[in-house]
Amino acid sequence: MAQLSDDCFAFGGPMMSVDKAVGIIAARVEAVRDFETVVLGEADGRILARDIAAPLPLPPFTNSAVDGYAVRAGDLPHGKTSALPVAGRVQAGSRAEAAKPGHAVRIFTGAPMPEGTDTVFMQEDVRIDDQGRVVLPHGLKAGANVRPAGEDIREGQVALKAGQRLRPQDVALAAAFGLTRVDVVRRIRVAVFSTGDELASPGAARESAQLFDSNRFMLTAMLKRLNCEVSDLGILRDERTSLANALKQVAAGNDLILTTGGVSTGEEDHVKAGVESAGTLVLWRMAIKPGRPVAMGIIGGTPFIGLPGNPVASFVTFVHVVRPTVLALSGGPAAPPVALPVRAAFAYRKKAGRREYVRVTLRRADDGVLEAVKFPREGAGLLSSLVDTDGLVELPEIVTRVEPGDSVGFLGYASLI
Ligand code: AMP
Ligand code: MG
Repeated sequence: MAQLSDDCFAFGGPMMSVDKAVGIIAARVEAVRDFETVVLGEADGRILARDIAAPLPLPPFTNSAVDGYAVRAGDLPHGKTSALPVAGRVQAGSRAEAAKPGHAVRIFTGAPMPEGTDTVFMQEDVRIDDQGRVVLPHGLKAGANVRPAGEDIREGQVALKAGQRLRPQDVALAAAFGLTRVDVVRRIRVAVFSTGDELASPGAARESAQLFDSNRFMLTAMLKRLNCEVSDLGILRDERTSLANALKQVAAGNDLILTTGGVSTGEEDHVKAGVESAGTLVLWRMAIKPGRPVAMGIIGGTPFIGLPGNPVASFVTFVHVVRPTVLALSGGPAAPPVALPVRAAFAYRKKAGRREYVRVTLRRADDGVLEAVKFPREGAGLLSSLVDTDGLVELPEIVTRVEPGDSVGFLGYASLI
């Protein structure tokens, strides 16, 4: 486990910007250094532990990009149609014999270029005359329709970088190199608790003043998308001692402790007191809406994050605090998700100095432009507002108003986790 100092999340200012929070996390959270080897079929989504340099060029040999006839461009007269006798045939997967001088070779896509040829005419562009010769139009550039060895990737080139999160196309590249396994950072272990006397677990009896715990399942699912190994530890009651004990107990076996609920500063917000007795706590008042305070702390050297209980606040702060922490722990990319421009179909007022996220649905307007339609209600407790929308419009700190027709940045839910 990474061991962090007690004051590592301390912050002096009254309000913390999202960028500042991400900066503190990137600077102070230590990456775990344990690697493991996984087969390619298990590599998607994992963080690569070491650079991979190409052990061979791609493509590995020069080959034809089309079905047609391979020739030596120098055999053809300038500016006029020509006809060459055909000698030889080479298909994908078979070895090519050297071409006879002054002859064309029948060739198929992916087949190696016969020695002595450098250009391929597409079969659609030629015909065979009555003497069996292939009639070639003039004007084709030397080297056309050929894929030279190494045109995609040179041998020895670093093609996949340590710290990158492997996507399907990255796994494909490792396979194209003939690799069967890759070294990745081990999964980040996260202990997840919900807190609150008003919560009942789905499947358990629910008292009339209780609601079913939904955040724990949302957070667990989000963590799994980040390839974490999640321990779902249920619900903690609003009581300082049991809360502190539960948190202390999981510190040793986990890289991160995550809770939801109980981090406001009301007298029934017991996470604050529980963490203070189990370890060290700082409250980050983040300049973000929905959000409210996020608790950061260290328990036995393990980072602790306490998210707010309202589902939408929990979701948004997960994206800006938990996601960067998990990525920092795994030595992964720190870059925040990029918002793409869409047209606002709503008006909005906000305070300067705070970043706000508006839940929106996308639709294509009559002129073909993508428009963001705001969810009609704003409460941070409305789970339906996350379920019935496509993503979040991000309104930066400097913005104070949005008018219909303005360009705004859209983050689809899939890009956030
Ligand atoms: P808190 O942050 O504990 O003050 O909770 C704020 C609101 O979020 C309350 O109305 C809670 O009932 C609700 N809430 C807290 N935790 C959860 C949870 N795990 N699932 C669903 N709602 C929750
Ligand atoms: Mg609570």
